Amino acid sequence: MTEHHREADWFALTRKMRPLYDAQVRAGVAVCIDCHRPIVPGQRFAVGHRVSVKEGKARGWTKQQINDPSNLGPTHSARGGKGDGSRRCNEQGGGRIGGRARTTKQAEQKRRPDWRTW
Ligand SMILES: [Zn+2]
Repeated sequence: MTEHHREADWFALTRKMRPLYDAQVRAGVAVCIDCHRPIVPGQRFAVGHRVSVKEGKARGWTKQQINDPSNLGPTHSARGGKGDGSRRCNEQGGGRIGGRARTTKQAEQKRRPDWRTW
């Protein structure tokens, strides 16, 4: 119904909450609301709901209750900064996968069109 309005609200809210959690992360006291592990300084996070919007509605909560700071918290996110409210804890399994993109050498680019006649 008022999906758009709600999203605008949420956006404003995350922008308000983010600096708070950012300070917590930097102080090393932030805990992910999804996996309950610490969010270490430098790690990306998003603002998320402890009780999801869907679940909150199912419980008969008002929007205000759902978006109350007490129901919000930082969650690990690979897309930190977006603040879209989706809960994307990035720390399942605990271990960090050190996969990095390979750089491809392109030394193959030596060929030249033979435009010189001599
Ligand atoms: Zn987490």
